[in-house]
Parts: sequence; structure tokens; C-alpha cells
Amino acid sequence: MATWILFERSANDEPQVSAMSGGKAVERLSSSSKTELIMFLNRFQAAGTFLVARVKDDLEATDLLPEDVSLVEDATLGITADVYKFFRNDNGQPVVAAMQGDEAVEILTGNRRDALITFLNKYPNARRFDIAAAGSKIPTVINLPDRTPIYRGRGVMLEIGHGPGTRFDPGAIAPTGETEYDLNIIATNAARQVIVAAGVPCTVIDTPQANLQDLYNIGLQAGGFDVFCSVHHNAFDGPGGRNPQGAEVLVHRTKAEASDRRLAAIMTAAMADELNISNRGVKDNLALLVLSGAEDTNVRASVLAELYFLDAPVPNRQDWSRRGGIAMGQAIIQWLKETARRS
Ligand SMILES: [Zn+2]
Repeated sequence: MATWILFERSANDEPQVSAMSGGKAVERLSSSSKTELIMFLNRFQAAGTFLVARVKDDLEATDLLPEDVSLVEDATLGITADVYKFFRNDNGQPVVAAMQGDEAVEILTGNRRDALITFLNKYPNARRFDIAAAGSKIPTVINLPDRTPIYRGRGVMLEIGHGPGTRFDPGAIAPTGETEYDLNIIATNAARQVIVAAGVPCTVIDTPQANLQDLYNIGLQAGGFDVFCSVHHNAFDGPGGRNPQGAEVLVHRTKAEASDRRLAAIMTAAMADELNISNRGVKDNLALLVLSGAEDTNVRASVLAELYFLDAPVPNRQDWSRRGGIAMGQAIIQWLKETARRS
């Protein structure tokens, strides 16, 4: 059983990662793919720590470093990285830098495997990692003009409406055959990318709903997050001659507060603007069990987005759902900026 992880630079300068048991490698990964690294790290739950080898050395002593609380220097909105680089400092501690070109945008110092995995997930655009060559200087974090830390919150939860196995309410179906669920997935993923790229953690849930009470319980999962957003597309109740194509965002009629309404207002305006459809505004709804559950937690704002009417004429629903999802994500980021507790 592996108890620690060793990062080395191979003779041809490629990263080599070993799951170690004492001084022996039980399994090796030769890859610079971050995805493969995270999968590898996740497989060795018993390996609490990691170490960066002294460059061009034989395998060194197997003593583990103390379990430091990793120091993440700064969490900043809107900064992206393109590669993770592993260094070893003078004390033998691993230093991992999220790099943008030659400069570090954020640095993790410490040797806890779980902190490393969290850090690796933080910059989705950085898909590779690299072990620093001998004599490389450990970078310091660059000073960007807008480096004021904005977000120190708890993240966003997005719920894909009408999840798998839904019996009582399969959602609407477009004339072209797409189900609401299919489009909700597209919109959720688009929003998630915007949110994560802004440096904000985002959790997506896609929960089977066997009965109505499950919706309330889905909402309860919002506890601990800053924002809960249930993602939906609208549909007419029946055939009608109206032309109501538009975006709207629902809040719970009795439980919603100003913060929920503000997020809903930003979001419906952003979606209407992006899709060039009418803004139907913030709608109160008493029967929304998912929001009722979310409102009973400590989540700071909870809303239900209806991007557009999927059964009205739309040139390309998948494109609309993607763009509407981006607008949804941008609205959430704007709300987080507005309501940030500055440190
Ligand atoms: Zn729906």
C-alpha cells in the first residue's frame, strides 16, 4: 500500500510520479497530463503526503515531512494559469506553482496530497504539469493590478433540473426532440466553466428525483454554499398564440430575501440580453420545493433559472442553452463580486 507520493524529473526531463511504500515505488505514472495526475493521486487514498525529489539524485530518505497546512497565497478572480510546476524549497518542502507563462499566479507550499488535488483542480485551463529543472528559482507570485482578493467564499452549487430517473416530471420536450434535461446539462456546463475560470469553486449536482419530497431534499444540499441555482428551460402550459419568448428567474415567494431577488434580477437580465429576448424578470413562486429546501439552509442566495421557452421557435437550442448558461455564470460572478466580504 502506497503511503506517500514522489515527484521526480526523469533523465529526459519528463515528470515521473511514483506511489511509494517506504522507499519502494509500487506504481509509476510517466505523464505530464494534469488529468492523469489527479486520477493517479486519487487512487492512493492512504498516501497522505507528497515530496519533490532532489533533482538528479537517487531516491532519497523516506522520512515524511510533517503534515503542514498548505499555504495558498491568494485566491483571485479572473486569473488563469497554463501549467503547474513542482519545485522543492531549501527546507525540502514541495512548492507547487500555478504558472502563467514564466510567472506564478498562485503558489501552494506544503506536502498534503489532498491540498495538492484541490490546488490542481483550481485552474482548469492548466492541463499539464512539470517538474522544475535543477537550479530553477522558485517564482514569487506576480503582482497583477487587480490582485485584490475578491472571492474567499464557499462556492456555487448548480443543480441540473429534471435529473436522471425523474418520474413525476420529465421536464419539457422541444419540437426538435431535445429534452429539457439535455439542454439543462448544456447550460449548466457552460455556466460552470465561467464560474471556475473566475476562480470560484463550483459543484454540479444531478440528482434522481423519485418523488416530490426529493426536490426539497435536493435544495437542502445547498447548505454551505454561497449560491444555489437550479437550471431549467421554460415551456408553455399548452398551445397559445402568445409570443412570450423570454428569460425569467424564479425565487421562493415567502422565503426569498433581497439577496435572492438581486441575483435573480442580474441573472434574468443577463440571459435576456445574451439571447436577445425579452426579460420577463424575477418571478415569485410558492410551489418551488427545490428553492424551499435551499432557503432552509445557510446558502446566501438561491434561484431557479428558466433560460428561455424551449417549445417556442428557436434557431439553435443547443447554442442558446450554451450562451444562456454563460450569461447565467457571469451573473453569478457579478453577484459574488457585489456581495463579497472583503478581507
Ligand atoms: Zn424545468
